[in-house]
Amino acid sequence: MWWELLDGPTTPRAPLERHLDVDVAIVGGGFTGLWTARELLRRDPMLRVAVVEKELCGFGASGRNGGWASGLFPLDNETVVRRYGFEAFHHQRRLLSQAVAQLGSFANADGIDARFAHGGTLTFARSEVQAQRLEAEVDRARALDIGPDDLAWLDADELGDRANVANALGATYSPHCARIDPARLVRGLSDVVERLGAKVFEQTAVTRIIPARRSHRAQVLTVGANVHADFVVRATEGFTPNFPGERRTVAPLYSLMIATEPLPSTFWADYGFNNYETFADDRHLIIYGQRTQDDRIAFGGRGAPYHFGSSVEPRFDKNHKVFGMLEATLRELFPTLDAAITHGWGGPLAMPRDHSPFVRVNYETGMAAAGGYTGDGVVLSHVAASALADLLISPDTETDHTRLPFVQHEGKRWEFEPLRWLGINAGLGLATWADRVEERHGRVSRASALLDRLFG
Ligand SMILES: Cc1cc2nc3c(=O)[nH]c(=O)nc-3n(C[C@H](O)[C@H](O)[C@H](O)COP(=O)(O)OP(=O)(O)OC[C@H]3O[C@@H](n4cnc5c(N)ncnc54)[C@H](O)[C@@H]3O)c2cc1C
Repeated sequence: MWWELLDGPTTPRAPLERHLDVDVAIVGGGFTGLWTARELLRRDPMLRVAVVEKELCGFGASGRNGGWASGLFPLDNETVVRRYGFEAFHHQRRLLSQAVAQLGSFANADGIDARFAHGGTLTFARSEVQAQRLEAEVDRARALDIGPDDLAWLDADELGDRANVANALGATYSPHCARIDPARLVRGLSDVVERLGAKVFEQTAVTRIIPARRSHRAQVLTVGANVHADFVVRATEGFTPNFPGERRTVAPLYSLMIATEPLPSTFWADYGFNNYETFADDRHLIIYGQRTQDDRIAFGGRGAPYHFGSSVEPRFDKNHKVFGMLEATLRELFPTLDAAITHGWGGPLAMPRDHSPFVRVNYETGMAAAGGYTGDGVVLSHVAASALADLLISPDTETDHTRLPFVQHEGKRWEFEPLRWLGINAGLGLATWADRVEERHGRVSRASALLDRLFG
């Protein structure tokens, strides 16, 4: 859908056909790769930067996502405090919150109309159990010095005409989220980095990345030609397990989406969302929605299985059982919805074993990487790219971005199969089970407590 809504057809850029020598080679033309190119060239316009993309820039999660540009982080607040301390937690939280508005102003300054609307995000409580859980979340936030300007509880009256879904008892509201059109942003970025001087190659699959050693520089190998570079940035997120030796680096999870046809103004008069607030409810198996610029609902969720051996294949992008579940949930949220579902799609995101994103540079081997954002990569990829650019250009200078706790973070690798398959799919099954118990019996299931213990 996002690609159909672009202003015109997308013409692929030429593949890499000749050997190339650059300062930084970036593998993957999604948000991580393209923001990294942009940030490097903004800091040093003379740098020689190449982006090598297997398909088209934006082919991956960056051109397919739910368009939540949020300050969210995959780990819960308490875990971040426990792992890295209070000060690091607040530094990270502030920086991520600021990065939401920054993403909009950078896109604007670069002349990209990413349909950025900074309306915040609502998590609805649609049962007593969800209301109690969300109110407890607000209490825990207060205990960590997070005030009502950052996270507020709105009861049904306070929600008023702002935004509503069926059976909402209230909602938490955070201003730190904007709605975007992801394909417009990622395609716009690919033009911007070219204008800044990067060489962008599409339709070029990288087959191997070879670290630098002794007098040899790092290399990016493709079938047609190779790139030599001082640094190679791997920015391949959910596709990473396809590289030799990377099968256990992150687990590719599939998130799937559907979209309606444009909805009439009478529908929006009933439900609100006039500021384009993004929305979810507090079930365990994540859902996410937005009102698009042309008044559709784009709505997604997890629920697709993890595929054995960290397989990533185009056929996993569609799953009609999950599309059906998403449609049923959407019609529950908006009971008067009388419109066709026109699109269904999906793609892989990357979940690290310890749930923490990473930004890594090894100055000896010239290997660098960023990713592991799980479902929060729209803003995190820009923050990670800024950290990468700082690390590559000024290795000895500490900056706000390089001080983030996930920078130079080495996480654990995933277990070997079949443990990985069993563990991840058991987690997904528990989440489904917990939601079902809450829905049918109106009480918290034991699965919910187990999930909290296992995944935080
Ligand atoms: C359906 C869905 C909904 C989501 N919703 C949200 C959301 O609302 N908000 C949010 O914050 N996050 C969301 N996410 C996550 C977010 O989209 C990602 O975290 C983010 O886009 C990752 O960007 P990336 O550039 O690191 O990876 P990607 O965008 O996946 O880019 C990786 C690129 O590498 C290329 N590549 C792979 N292998 C090779 C190779 N061998 N050679 C060359 N190139 C290669 C791929 O073609 C791809 O273009 C969602 C993800 C999905 C799938």
